[in-house]
Amino acid sequence: MKKILIAIDNDFVRETYSEVFKEDNFEALATKKGKEAIDLAKSELPDIIIADIALSEIGGFKLIETLREEDLTKEIPVIIFSQIEKEKDRARAMELEAKDFITAVAVTPIEAIRRVKIALGEQKSYKIFPTKNLYNAKELITDLGYTYDFKCSECGNDLVFYLIRDLSKGEKYFIVSVICPECGR
Ligand SMILES: [Zn+2]
Repeated sequence: MKKILIAIDNDFVRETYSEVFKEDNFEALATKKGKEAIDLAKSELPDIIIADIALSEIGGFKLIETLREEDLTKEIPVIIFSQIEKEKDRARAMELEAKDFITAVAVTPIEAIRRVKIALGEQKSYKIFPTKNLYNAKELITDLGYTYDFKCSECGNDLVFYLIRDLSKGEKYFIVSVICPECGR
């Protein structure tokens, strides 16, 4: 069983996250205080941490920096959480090599589970180029509203199918979206 530390300031969001992660077979620890989050990280050594930038005492960014200072905790992956999307927060999270950046506004708790599993390397993702004349790939491409050459309208790169394994349904199930590997969307 994987252990997650959920350090989120908002009571409702933190409790919801705890609930859904427990339902998905995680051992979930939770706190709203930065100092307690650091103590829990040291004593419990969770497999992953979700850290809110608005934690009381010590925010998520400072938490990453503090955990990096100690051998025992420096390898623990941290996902930065924020109530809202701010470009400068996302940039700071990437700079600190946070595993991901999720927001309460854009990311549902179920999506958060998926992102945590990707960060843990459990829910792998794949980029697949559809062979344009194989079976009914052509039909699919046109049904999706793309021209048959299946190119990105922004940069002209070949589009690909982006597959994320949906472990909630089983090994052979995937969530598929179309993305441009260059533009990332
Ligand atoms: Zn593109």
